[in-house]
Amino acid sequence: MTQLDVRPIPAFQDNYIWLIRGLTDPRAATVVDPGTADPVLQALASDDLHLAAILVTHHHPDHVGGVRELAAVTGAAVFGPRHERLPFDCTATGGGERVTPAATGLDFAVFDVPGHTAGHIAYYGHGALFPGDTLFSAGCGRLFEGTAEQMLASLDTLAALPDSTRVFPAHEYTLANLRFALAADPDNAELAGQTRQAAAEREAGRPTLPTTIGTEKRINPFLRCRSAGIRRSAEQHAGQPLPAAAGVFATIRGWKDGFR
Ligand code: ZN
Ligand code: FE
Repeated sequence: MTQLDVRPIPAFQDNYIWLIRGLTDPRAATVVDPGTADPVLQALASDDLHLAAILVTHHHPDHVGGVRELAAVTGAAVFGPRHERLPFDCTATGGGERVTPAATGLDFAVFDVPGHTAGHIAYYGHGALFPGDTLFSAGCGRLFEGTAEQMLASLDTLAALPDSTRVFPAHEYTLANLRFALAADPDNAELAGQTRQAAAEREAGRPTLPTTIGTEKRINPFLRCRSAGIRRSAEQHAGQPLPAAAGVFATIRGWKDGFR
């Protein structure tokens, strides 16, 4: 399988707009969640690319703010979640469908991953996953519109992908997430090394991403709600037994929301 050529365009404080080169035409670019247009236009110009497609995962402004301008300037095809209200025209898509932007040779499966927002979708293809704000390295999105049960099911869908899947989340939250992971999963021997590695990348000015599904299954507390260690700390935090994985998930999600 050809590995996709994906690179980050940093935006705002901690967003990444992922730029994917086309397989059939490497000058045909696709971007995921452009919250702003300017850095994308600069990246296109500096690498002599044209924008073929825009993929949107959910309606939050830091993910859609640049779509209208980019579509108008470049004529790119826009794909977005069917069950969200978006401030621009797009081809609506959802779970079980495929997105195949013209001229790129790209072919993504779409998953419904409600939880962070009610209609959030993720794009998966060519060994790469674009989960938006559903899955981060060592973390997951806040529950703004969905329930713990929904988010856990969404994360289960993503965790079922091959361990080798490269994961391209929309935010650089890794170090803060790892601080919480160390508190919630203190016996996890992987976390210290993972933290050292992430800190070194950040000090060198590099992203900690992409991560992989295999790595996340070992380090991400929100993918480990069925592990004895996470269950134990969640029960301690809640002060009661938590027999269901959704209860464990809800507890650590709430714990993380207030964690500094
Ligand atoms: Zn969001
Ligand atoms: Fe976001």
